[in-house]
Amino acid sequence: MNKFLILSIEDDKAIRNLISLTFENQGYRYIVAATGEEGLMQVAQRNPDVVLVDLGLPDMDGIDVIKRIRDWSNVPVIVISARSEDADKIKALDAGADDYLTKPFSVDELLARIRAMFRRISYVNSEAANPSSVFENGDLKIDYQAGCVYVRDVELHLTPIEYKLLVLLSRNEGKVLTHSYITQQVWGAAWGSNVASLRVFMATLRRKLEKMEGNAASCLQTHVGVGYRMIKL
Ligand code: CA
Repeated sequence: MNKFLILSIEDDKAIRNLISLTFENQGYRYIVAATGEEGLMQVAQRNPDVVLVDLGLPDMDGIDVIKRIRDWSNVPVIVISARSEDADKIKALDAGADDYLTKPFSVDELLARIRAMFRRISYVNSEAANPSSVFENGDLKIDYQAGCVYVRDVELHLTPIEYKLLVLLSRNEGKVLTHSYITQQVWGAAWGSNVASLRVFMATLRRKLEKMEGNAASCLQTHVGVGYRMIKL
């Protein structure tokens, strides 16, 4: 049995049952909540490791559930919603969600996203126990302390901005980061959300990774209209 506990906040009974059945088959520990308030109570009382949130809840908007969770908790949150517009995804991610799945969703994809979160938690926990300053993902290696990036042990020369982008994505591996979040983290709030420039920097960073031997470039995922994500290779 998996040691992680998953909370699903979902008012649609059929979907709740589908999720429950899926987790049961996987041997995952899970709890469910049918309203936002109940979900928030479960987060506080049971301290789940991953929270799935539907945005259309009977008592409150899922976005507000995420914001209230973020007031006191860093638990990974995956949104599962019928709202499929980029604007909705951005709103949810900016409110503090880590990932977004559009209904109707595939059970396999949900499980893959959850496994990615589990890996992130394990990684963060092992980092906390043993603060290593070297990040590895496939052929990519970042030595945070030395400020160096290697692909298959060959050093990759990056500009300071490209390096900051890569480090930000690596520190949030598995998580979709929105354009505005990235520009704020890399350039600061004053810079505003200049998506066009961000795209240029991401393109040069990707080209540099592509020029190297190995699979490093494939860890960078573009979410059109939303942002970027580093996936685990
Ligand atoms: Ca709903």
